[in-house]
Amino acid sequence: MLLGLSKIIDCPGASVPFSTSLDLRDLRYGNCCPVTEPVNAEGVVRNTAGVLVMSGMVTTCIHGVCDRCASDFTRQMEIPIDVVLVTELADEENEDEWVFPLEGDSADLEDIVRTVFVLNMDSKLLCSEDCKGLCCRCGTNLNNGPCNCQKELDPRFAALKQLLKK
Ligand SMILES: [Zn+2]
Ligand SMILES: [Zn+2]
Repeated sequence: MLLGLSKIIDCPGASVPFSTSLDLRDLRYGNCCPVTEPVNAEGVVRNTAGVLVMSGMVTTCIHGVCDRCASDFTRQMEIPIDVVLVTELADEENEDEWVFPLEGDSADLEDIVRTVFVLNMDSKLLCSEDCKGLCCRCGTNLNNGPCNCQKELDPRFAALKQLLKK
């Protein structure tokens, strides 16, 4: 979907609102495609002193399997959009993923929203930022409370204790 910007390209202070919805069900993370719901984006493109700045928010709800604790989870995602649109990409040295070229005098909304979304998705798919994961010894999901392993004394410490007694 193209967002026409001809009205604001030469008009500092002017702005154009946008709102779109994408289908990113084909995005794969490991063995799952967690983006099962529509990805909504809305915001505004503003000509700020001659620079086209796009700002807004991408929201969706992902349904995945946690990389750390292996449980199914549903997580609300809110990703800010803050990118600059340029008529021509400058030489490669200045290339930045947050700068997008215009298609003529339009912005390719789908491409921009998809890129922002993908770059912001955690490389690891977690049920929450501070997921405690599984105990490497007994496999208990530590989000549900500690397991019994931690209470057991490490055999090396046990040996040390024996030595100290002497
Ligand atoms: Zn988890
Ligand atoms: Zn354990």
